[in-house]
Amino acid sequence: MAIYCCVCGFLKFRTSRFRFRSSDLSQLLLMRLPVRCLNCDERTFTSVSQFLRLRRMRKARHREHQQRSTTS
Ligand SMILES: [Zn+2]
Repeated sequence: MAIYCCVCGFLKFRTSRFRFRSSDLSQLLLMRLPVRCLNCDERTFTSVSQFLRLRRMRKARHREHQQRSTTS
């Protein structure tokens, strides 16, 4: 299930920091967490599974970058 930006329609997101304010907490009750559009920086909410998938992808990219810099 893909998510897309409600502003620009872009499909790529990164995880956003959770903030303890009412708008974020009400989303958390719906099992949704904040993400940010990589194109226009719009902040939106997505399912926990989608959020974790984005976080895993970011970690994998980071690891790949570290390996490349140590071997060269
Ligand atoms: Zn966007």
